[in-house]
Amino acid sequence: MTATTETSRAAHSWQSLPAAQQPEWPDQEALRKTLAELASYPPLVFAGECDQLRARLGAVARGEAFLLQGGDCAEAFDGVSAEHIRNKLKTLLQMAAVLTYAASVPVVKVGRIAGQYSKPRSKSTETRDGVTLPVYRGDSVNGFEFTPESRIPNPERLKRMYNASAATLNLVRAFTTGGYADLRQVHAWNQDFVRNSPAGQRYEQLAREIDNALAFMSACGVVPEEFKAVEFFSSHEALVLDYETALTRVDSRTGELYDVSGHMVWIGERTRQLDHAHIEFASKIRNPIGVKLGPTTSVDDALALIEKLDPEREPGRLTFITRMGAGKIREHLPTLVEKVTASGARPVWICDPMHGNTFEASSGHKTRRFDDVLDEVKGFFEVHRALGTHPGGIHVELTGDDVTECVGGGDEVLVDDLHQRYETACDPRLNRSQSLDLAFLVAEMYRG
Ligand code: PEP
Ligand code: MN
Repeated sequence: MTATTETSRAAHSWQSLPAAQQPEWPDQEALRKTLAELASYPPLVFAGECDQLRARLGAVARGEAFLLQGGDCAEAFDGVSAEHIRNKLKTLLQMAAVLTYAASVPVVKVGRIAGQYSKPRSKSTETRDGVTLPVYRGDSVNGFEFTPESRIPNPERLKRMYNASAATLNLVRAFTTGGYADLRQVHAWNQDFVRNSPAGQRYEQLAREIDNALAFMSACGVVPEEFKAVEFFSSHEALVLDYETALTRVDSRTGELYDVSGHMVWIGERTRQLDHAHIEFASKIRNPIGVKLGPTTSVDDALALIEKLDPEREPGRLTFITRMGAGKIREHLPTLVEKVTASGARPVWICDPMHGNTFEASSGHKTRRFDDVLDEVKGFFEVHRALGTHPGGIHVELTGDDVTECVGGGDEVLVDDLHQRYETACDPRLNRSQSLDLAFLVAEMYRG
């Protein structure tokens, strides 16, 4: 067996282990054909780009940069339009501009984008009006529509996921390198945005200051390349392991395995069991890896994850995405961070203030309070400040569209407003104004 064959076999080592949250494909032969086809497709990202992101995250681990990771809870095939993608990107760029300028810190920008099509679920079925059907598991697996046909897992969808990811990434690359993300466009990103919204106005003020700073620099004859394009990376939850494995390749430069479906992948709270398939898979690839840590995570869990995923203690390799809930973070996070730090490990710590703060409103909508989101981020900063560790970033669910899915924010969404534009296929997202509000508040916390 050649070294390359041996390495590529390692991508399959998870197959002998229990894998939670996998679809039950009714037609195994169709699945096999689809996976073979996917394995022949070109990579969506380059291994070298994954290395670049790992290096950037290394700076975050050392306390020299801040990670902004955000996007939809679940991307949808019908959301692959120029408008949706542009709006999401604009929101992330605006948030990054706020953080970079107001907190004076380099921001590593990573979208939950171009691959976030698979969802872990708490229950395997869903009941409506006395009818029980398999739950929706994301556009990569089955349909959102509540009919028996639509809820049957169909492997053809894995190919659509690849194509939707490719189309999205293509536009993201065009936007971020083709002049649109030029810092001298800071005003343009705000143009269509409700200027009379408090967040939009506040942003306008900041954009004017950035403009002045840029005008001053250019008058001095300095227009760095960094102003003209933005480095932007893709990420998603590595959930459907058959898909991720089909997109895992041996890199010809290094002879190592990379999951080329996205720059960074993370393992979710429901699939991070140490001796199970997802962590095994993640341990074999060189991409930067994230792991979600909920309130029940023990110190031993965290240390064992580090040992398995980051045995070399390489800064930027491992990101812990804590999602404790506003009411729990101050109680649960300190011991974890303290003991991990005492072990000598230096993972990136970021805060997902969304998933521990979900509740059902009386209208039946799954929602989150902006104030809880904010309070969890506050708790995150308090804990890290008290321990002298680095609050490395945030991981948020957001959209560039003017939805009404989370309550609160400067341009307040009320519980009674939720039905107006509730469009998410899964969890409630911050809208553009709430996202900008959050960026301003996080920038203030970062500055201390
Ligand atoms: C998610 O990120 O959408 C998600 C399901 O998160 P978690 O694994 O933290 O519950
Ligand atoms: Mn979610």
